[in-house]
Amino acid sequence: MTRKLGEFEIIKTYFAPLSQSEKGSFNLTDDAAVIDIPDGMSMVVTTDTLVEGVHFLSDDLPENIAKKLLRVSLSDLAAMGSVPAFYNLSIATKIGTTSDWFRAFAGGLLADQIQFGITLIGGDTVATSGPLTLSLTAMGFVAKGKAISRGGAKLGDDIWVSGLIGDAALGLRAATGKLSSISEENKKYLISRYTKPAPQTLLGPKLSNHVNSAIDISDGLVGDLDHICETSKLGADIQITDIPLSRAANILVTEKPDYIDLILSGGDDFELLFTADKSFRAVAKSLTEMLDVNLTKIGVMVCRRSIEIFDENGNKYVIKNNGYTHF
Ligand code: ADP
Ligand code: MG
Repeated sequence: MTRKLGEFEIIKTYFAPLSQSEKGSFNLTDDAAVIDIPDGMSMVVTTDTLVEGVHFLSDDLPENIAKKLLRVSLSDLAAMGSVPAFYNLSIATKIGTTSDWFRAFAGGLLADQIQFGITLIGGDTVATSGPLTLSLTAMGFVAKGKAISRGGAKLGDDIWVSGLIGDAALGLRAATGKLSSISEENKKYLISRYTKPAPQTLLGPKLSNHVNSAIDISDGLVGDLDHICETSKLGADIQITDIPLSRAANILVTEKPDYIDLILSGGDDFELLFTADKSFRAVAKSLTEMLDVNLTKIGVMVCRRSIEIFDENGNKYVIKNNGYTHF
């Protein structure tokens, strides 16, 4: 159906149903939402913007774009140790965007709202002659004083990552036809890791009592580790052989060792990178069992103010570029 839609019809038809479980959203019929913060809690707030052609591909499915938009912010909430609660959504859609598109987009949001326990409470709806631009502000709660910062890493901390690293960067290459020798099955797996990241929303809040610093990996492993180093005024040593890879990533790296650079510096995995005292090693075991999540120690925080990467022979490894930057 290609009928022209008005702003208020879009809000009422596609977005209001997503706000029903929170009274303070007034079903998107008032000027703004009103939210109470539970006693003893702080609200964690984060905004991300996705632009067509920059953060997702023009032919990505609307439900996948919706999920990616929500998940990148859920990942930020997790990195701060907070539990997701609400979000605001600002969309600038191309003039003439169809009701089918909005229905699929809202359907993707609804599925993830249920999966991750988060509710829409407001936003803005405009049309643009430019590329589809989506901005989402997510809100979560964490016990007062328990938010995890980037700046808390201590000398001698182990450096940990959740999940598997590098799949998303390889998935983007796969989606754009830039990986030559790869089976259909592995290609599908890697692309899904790029289009549908799995934010660590259960792990993040469980870390807040145990770790000294955390960040989510959105610009690449080394680039994001560098943010922790900068803010904590420390450096890091990491071992390439300790970085946890998927079977698909392993095959690619074995065939073409250059892919290690993508794994070290490619972005978009949305796993958590965090540092903790040695006593966390025992906690890691129980968290892995409880949450069924891989936790892998990949290095150690050092006092030298730089990151050094070591290969399987203990030699220093130099990468060609350090994460994605927009400017
Ligand atoms: P205003 O003109 O005061 O900005 P709007 O007409 O833009 O108000 O929005 C009306 C209500 O609908 C507000 O509660 C706003 O938060 C909500 N809203 C508008 N667009 C969206 C959207 N894309 N997603 C969720 N809520 C939205
Ligand atoms: Mg408005």
